[in-house]
Amino acid sequence: MSEKNLPLGHGEMLELAYELATPFYLYDEKAIVEGARQFKRLFSWAPGFKNYYAVKACPNPVILKLLGQEGFGADCSSLPELLLSKASGIVGEQIMFTSNDTPAEEFKAAYEMGAIINLDDITHIDTLEEAISAVPSTICFRYNPGPERTGNAIIGNPVEAKYGVTSSQIIDCYKIMKEKGVKHFGLHTMVASNELDGSYIVETARMLFELCVRIQKEAGVRIEFIDMGGGIGIPYRPEQEGMDLAEVSRRMKDLYDQIIVPASLDPLKIVFECGRMITGPHGYLVSKVLHVSHKYKDYVGLDASMANLMRPALYGAYHHITVLGKDASKSDHRYDVTGSLCENNDKFAIDRALPEIQKGDFLVIHDAGAHGHSMGFNYNAKLRSAEYLLKRDGSVVMIRRAQTYDDYVSTLRFDGALVEV
Ligand SMILES: *Cc1c(COP(=O)(O)O)cnc(C)c1O
Repeated sequence: MSEKNLPLGHGEMLELAYELATPFYLYDEKAIVEGARQFKRLFSWAPGFKNYYAVKACPNPVILKLLGQEGFGADCSSLPELLLSKASGIVGEQIMFTSNDTPAEEFKAAYEMGAIINLDDITHIDTLEEAISAVPSTICFRYNPGPERTGNAIIGNPVEAKYGVTSSQIIDCYKIMKEKGVKHFGLHTMVASNELDGSYIVETARMLFELCVRIQKEAGVRIEFIDMGGGIGIPYRPEQEGMDLAEVSRRMKDLYDQIIVPASLDPLKIVFECGRMITGPHGYLVSKVLHVSHKYKDYVGLDASMANLMRPALYGAYHHITVLGKDASKSDHRYDVTGSLCENNDKFAIDRALPEIQKGDFLVIHDAGAHGHSMGFNYNAKLRSAEYLLKRDGSVVMIRRAQTYDDYVSTLRFDGALVEV
């Protein structure tokens, strides 16, 4: 069981909801910082432990800066993400550039910023060299284990994944880069998303540890860090358990002692690129009920839509919903909770048991702090919502204003302002 708490009492949340224009996102600074510290504490045995927070999960400089102050780096996959990290004070090797299908100018920008470049493909060796006319001192490769790991049902199928260098290419990748004069090497993989089974993470560590030994033997290259990627899941459903990270850490240490130490590869730095587990549980989407209607089913229509949070519509993802002020009421009604897009899949929940809801009620959608606002879009000319941070001192500050009509049309050229092409 995972408890679905609010960062403030129902009364205080209601006051905020009345005061601020809904819909809006609220992030809980204290909980984000405590989670980040706990992650570091649990892996304090691991040499050079660091989490490069995946910027795409919540690309807001206030959040990035907060994590930077906790010693986190940033995992970027585009030029704007690189620039946002820099603007948040996360620079140089504190940035991991893990991209795929990468434009040459982004390799160039990452190199010039001193970011660690993580290559997704063997052909990117040449693309990178053409782009930067130099050889970086550090390079990392993303590994795709392919059929080697299809035996495990929880993995999905790496053979179908567009990412990474294959098992038969990986040795050549390091040999080529060593030849070119690269001095420091990393090894990356990311083969899961939103995983709750810790043994999967442990097996990924085993795979990378063993691969470090193979790379040492076959390419004569010593890997200095492994990057475990992101993918640690969060319990979106109250009946789910979060991953037991303490256990994962213990089992990874055992493997480190069994595989890395005897191979004389200690110290080997261990890093992650987790986004979801860091901010996911600590972000809330607050929305107002505009309509309650009874058709062939009962519907609760919100002022938020999948343009604000698309995970339920995109993946059928569960997000827990709390009706503010009705914590003592029984969940004896069943609703589809919808947004206003002209798309029937614009639903936050289907057949959800909730207390009886009236027009004007406020709903809080939980676990929206990662891949929430950042996945937003403008379909139906829906405008993106504001983001607020609940600070440790209890104050609430706006960290992104809501989009306006002027913002929305600012890239258009009309009324005499037509651009000649
Ligand atoms: C998305 C992504 C992450 C973050 O994943 P989470 O599930 O948010 O932890 C990290 N690294 C890469 C390369 C990614 O694509």
